[in-house]
Amino acid sequence: MVEVECLLCEKPLKLPKDFDSEDYDGEAVCQECQSLFHIKIVKSKVRKYRIVERKFGPLPAGVMVEIFKAVAEAKRKQGLEAQEREREEK
Ligand SMILES: [Zn+2]
Repeated sequence: MVEVECLLCEKPLKLPKDFDSEDYDGEAVCQECQSLFHIKIVKSKVRKYRIVERKFGPLPAGVMVEIFKAVAEAKRKQGLEAQEREREEK
């Protein structure tokens, strides 16, 4: 089961009923701050994750940096292994 944390408040996202933790490409809403995200999961790995609609107030400049860092960190964690696997399949 994939747990996706909100990029803004770090609470788990409320995933839709049809959410498939192995393959999913769609939207999810944060249960805490109600921000809307688009996530793409392939083989239980988060491949894309972006903010569609932010319900927080304006972000302080530093927060965007933190978000980019969080995304970079998530990508690093998922590792090159998954990317290589995908490349082989193409
Ligand atoms: Zn949130």
